[in-house]
Amino acid sequence: MTTTEEDAAAAPGASRVLVLNSGSSSVKYQLLDMRDHSRLASGLVERIGEETSRLVHTPPAGGGGQVRERLGRFPDHEAALRAAAEELAADGLGLDSPELAAIGHRVVHGGLRFTEPTVITDEVLKEIERLVPVAPLHNPANITGIRTAQALRPDLPQVAVFDTAFHTTMPEYAARYAIDVETADAHRIRRYGFHGTSHAYVSRKTAELLGRAPKDVNVIVLHLGNGASASAVAGGRCVETSMGLTPLEGLVMGTRSGDIDPAVTFHLKRVAGMSADEIDVLLNKKSGLVGLCGDNDMREIRRRIDEGDARAALAFDIYVHRLKKYIGAYSAVLGRVDAVVFTAGVGENSSPVREAAIGGLEELGLVVDADLNAVRSGEPRLISPDYARVAVAVVPTDEELEIANQTFALVDN
Ligand code: AMP
Repeated sequence: MTTTEEDAAAAPGASRVLVLNSGSSSVKYQLLDMRDHSRLASGLVERIGEETSRLVHTPPAGGGGQVRERLGRFPDHEAALRAAAEELAADGLGLDSPELAAIGHRVVHGGLRFTEPTVITDEVLKEIERLVPVAPLHNPANITGIRTAQALRPDLPQVAVFDTAFHTTMPEYAARYAIDVETADAHRIRRYGFHGTSHAYVSRKTAELLGRAPKDVNVIVLHLGNGASASAVAGGRCVETSMGLTPLEGLVMGTRSGDIDPAVTFHLKRVAGMSADEIDVLLNKKSGLVGLCGDNDMREIRRRIDEGDARAALAFDIYVHRLKKYIGAYSAVLGRVDAVVFTAGVGENSSPVREAAIGGLEELGLVVDADLNAVRSGEPRLISPDYARVAVAVVPTDEELEIANQTFALVDN
């Protein structure tokens, strides 16, 4: 096992990074070649621990290989990762390859300690464990992924890239909740923010799209996936973000409520007799778009709206209203905004969401060009007209590439 940072240099000439994103019952993996950022192979193992797990593996493009699917029982993360490693080996990309430079792990919660990607030592792993109480759903799965990868390649540098790290630059007045300071500090209650690798990558790419240095650009990033968050990035540094102690705060999401009066929770306990766990499930899994209209897929919601479905229309309006509030608030936080940028599943693909969120914000210098907004593309692009004071952009996110970049930067010598 790698126990010191000095052990963390990659083998000379090794240029591949395996990125692992371990969820509670799934593992996503991608193998990238850092010489040209090409994706060599990728895959997903889901329903780990259930009766029938499923592995889907995408072999290298251009090699003539087909996407392979395996159904079976993978009782734990170790079995899942071993199966993924077998699939990679079948493509000649086994984990024993000397070309593998490092494994980069997405770790959801890094608390205040981890402000940068970090080589995983025994001490670092202990600290990630110490953060389990503030990320009970995520950090345990990340830890399992790390341990399993260490067992498979004990000699290889492993790097943790934290979802919270990009947000550690938030000023204290943005990060602190207005509650009793001693209670907050005793329980490490503050706003941490999540999706940090995406906000970092997309804000940097937006500066590139504008042809300017990140330090000269103020950007509002709207990461709208099944989970959703906004951030205000001033000169490359995050100054505000919408998620808080947990990923529940902020925007309306696929299944999470986002902002809510905290008194709703005690009301549900006192009046409806719900337990803390039941309220947790309600707000995290049965709220947001799914709670409002029964669907969390924006495509389905738009289809229902086209058929005249009033519940779907109201869910859409609530979703967009919250977005507008954040765009307005973050414009005020930043003072000068150079770009508003949409990313992730909904942000990259749903022109109606983009149109509705920006519509009516002309006074803030925000306008969307209908033709540009209608273009479907996987490339970063502007969707505002030339005359607009503030650029509106769509920039596809790539969290895996960002994790691989940060990992490789740390181990390459
Ligand atoms: P993500 O979490 O970034 O993978 O985003 C997943 C979400 O993106 C889905 O739940 C859908 O709501 C949304 N999405 C994906 N593709 C489209 C599309 N073509 N149009 C509208 N929404 C989409």
